[in-house]
Amino acid sequence: MDFLILFLIYLAVCISCMVVAIKFSRQSQECFARISHHVTRVIAPVIPQRLQIIVQLILHRLIRQRSSFFLVLHLVLEIAVYGEYSWEVFPYSLELGFRHSILLLPYILVLGKMYFFYLCCTKDPGTISPSNHKQLLKVYMYDGNLYQQSHVCTTCKLAKPARSKHCRVCNRCIHRFDHHCVWVNNCIGALNIRYFLLYLVTLSGMAAAVGSVTISFLVQVALMSNLHQAMYVNADGEQVPVGILYIVQRLFLTFPRILFMLGFTLLTFFLLAGYTAFHFYLVMTNQTSNEWYKHMNSCQCHMDNSRSDKHMWGNIYHRGIITNVKEIISPERRNRKKIR
Ligand SMILES: [Zn+2]
Ligand SMILES: [Zn+2]
Repeated sequence: MDFLILFLIYLAVCISCMVVAIKFSRQSQECFARISHHVTRVIAPVIPQRLQIIVQLILHRLIRQRSSFFLVLHLVLEIAVYGEYSWEVFPYSLELGFRHSILLLPYILVLGKMYFFYLCCTKDPGTISPSNHKQLLKVYMYDGNLYQQSHVCTTCKLAKPARSKHCRVCNRCIHRFDHHCVWVNNCIGALNIRYFLLYLVTLSGMAAAVGSVTISFLVQVALMSNLHQAMYVNADGEQVPVGILYIVQRLFLTFPRILFMLGFTLLTFFLLAGYTAFHFYLVMTNQTSNEWYKHMNSCQCHMDNSRSDKHMWGNIYHRGIITNVKEIISPERRNRKKIR
């Protein structure tokens, strides 16, 4: 039971960290405001005021200003997973006769991921400046709901092109703003969303490849040591076959680091796969995360007011799946005919 409790605590911590991380990466500004508010309310009576100020400053520095913290954390976690994979899983699997092509797949994927990660971090997401402002005003029509022709960015002092948004972290307006991603320390907008999608796909692929090889290795070990055929004597003195929990426990005691790495990798994979699928849904329906989030908030608001049939956001930018995908691959940014 000790093992089970330890593993459940580990799972709970991993899930909590990943959920918070993904929340931050999607809508960092709104989440920060809400979390900061709740945290302040809870800790205020028990934590000295000076410490509260320090905590708030650290959170502010990490979330509301461009910071390399999450970028470095992301690389450290990857090094930890790949270190364990290279140190134990790879050589043991090689001894068991696994094919080189399968064992090398995670390394090929990490190279692809690093390339797209670099592009996401360094490429301009679509900064709106006085020099390109007039061109970008012509790209999308105003829907008269989320985007109004009269809106002006109070910081940049420029009329907001439809689908743009001022990023408070980067302090600039972004064309077809999706979100500010703390993991790449950059905005995701019209010009780098394609790299972001490929980054998500390769990152999910990495987690899937490492997880699959590790599971195959552990299954092979369990079969070779006949763990699945082991028996134990129950309270009635009868010999009964052991269950899956016993096998996992034995493997955990034999390969603790591999099991921890596998647990983290599987959780990462499921969360990333869900997040990637969500982004592909947005691509196919021609929505940004920002629009989807505002739309959901608007639905919630109208449901609360029992007027769900009025003022719902109609997505006028949806022009069919193929055209929507083309728009991501080749973003609109020049003097073209206005898109609906
Ligand atoms: Zn602005
Ligand atoms: Zn930004």
